[in-house]
Amino acid sequence: MGATASLPVYALEDVPGKGKGLIAARDIPKGTRIISEKPFVTVPGNVANMEQQRIYLYQQVGSLSEQQEREFLAMDNVYPYTNSGERYQGIFRTNALPFGPTLRDGGVFLKACRINHACDNNATNFWNENLNQLTIHALRDISKGEEITIFYLNARRNRKARVEELWQSFKFTCSCRLCSLPPHQGKESDSRLDRVYELDVVIEQAGLEGLVSSPRRMLNYVDEQVQLWNEETANEVGLVRAYPDAVQISIANGDLARARIFANRALALYRIALGDDSPDVVQYGELVRNPATHDYYGMSMKWKTMPDDVPQELGPRDFEDWLWKRRIENAPGHLGKLNDREAFPSFNELPNEHDFESDYFEGGTLGSRRPRRHWCFLAEIMEFTSLVRLQMAVRDLNGTVLPLRFHTDRRGGELALSQIQKGYTVAILYAVRHDFMYSEPGIRHENPRMMKVPLPAQVHLLPVTKISN
Ligand SMILES: [Zn+2]
Repeated sequence: MGATASLPVYALEDVPGKGKGLIAARDIPKGTRIISEKPFVTVPGNVANMEQQRIYLYQQVGSLSEQQEREFLAMDNVYPYTNSGERYQGIFRTNALPFGPTLRDGGVFLKACRINHACDNNATNFWNENLNQLTIHALRDISKGEEITIFYLNARRNRKARVEELWQSFKFTCSCRLCSLPPHQGKESDSRLDRVYELDVVIEQAGLEGLVSSPRRMLNYVDEQVQLWNEETANEVGLVRAYPDAVQISIANGDLARARIFANRALALYRIALGDDSPDVVQYGELVRNPATHDYYGMSMKWKTMPDDVPQELGPRDFEDWLWKRRIENAPGHLGKLNDREAFPSFNELPNEHDFESDYFEGGTLGSRRPRRHWCFLAEIMEFTSLVRLQMAVRDLNGTVLPLRFHTDRRGGELALSQIQKGYTVAILYAVRHDFMYSEPGIRHENPRMMKVPLPAQVHLLPVTKISN
């Protein structure tokens, strides 16, 4: 994979309805590097205006060899012009591909710019910072005689959005397989792409904070995206974006086992699309070897695993359920194992009382929020007083000591005195963090039915067997 093809693998030919295009001259296996080249006309991304862009191009085209200039002028131009400055600019705008460290610069590439667009492209362009060249790789097996295509737009949107954007920027109407689907299939494709895009927006808006506050929800979204991409296209363009998201979510929560698996999947895709000499393959290769080197590692340890903590006996389907943390058991009253930190979170992992949309709650507003699932806060009683109301200092699973105050109707009188002993464990269902006005944050307990003080903690924090709700 990623090997440079030794013989010319394509020919420039007429393509009906598209002018010229690159046609595979032989079968091209997936992962083949079809082209690798430097730009011969460039404009930096920070030019102030169109006038400056024209000046830039005028100077560059003026310094080309006669042969190069002929080749430049033979390229397509979808924009009208009245002088050579405008003509160069039209050619540039029609053909330029992004390049440079930030992909802000535009370059005209003699070979790669001959490749036409398709929304279900079979090849991809990539600026390889290590080589300082643009590469074109086959994303899937391309048969002899098939046209080689890349994707000109940034986001993969529904057909209407693609048609508008392609027309606006490139003045053509796409007639690729995806754009020519029969209406009902086209609709299905559009709704899948809409959903993927919608999820992209949610994940992006949640940002780094979302990875830590709502990791399971974020991972579920990426899972859904991967499933949608697998239904949508024969190639794996969407997955190239989805798996790195899954890597970040796992790593940010200390889950090295899943991070390594996701990184391995991303790596396999990068090798095909970008080649072994690309910075991304080098970076992901390092992550697979040692996932803990990622910058996000340790932001939270909620999902802590070691790289080898991977279940061995699972079939493919159960393995995917495990990998994506799909919630299988959802029976009411089911709390899972006591070492499950999602079911039994520490104080720092509890949702805030103002939290209405996270891994814990859904509903959209504070008034209408409902728990998405069950969780139970366990802590050991360290001290207690009951002057005005029952107050306790309790210690959680991590050793954090926090105040627990009873704001029930009887201010804690619901509990029998015999239940309140140092060393006993309290169990509170759906606990949330409260910011007390005159002390450190703790738990303001309001509903006596959501709490149990069961047995002395002879085995530290493990006496709870059943919790009523
Ligand atoms: Zn199309």
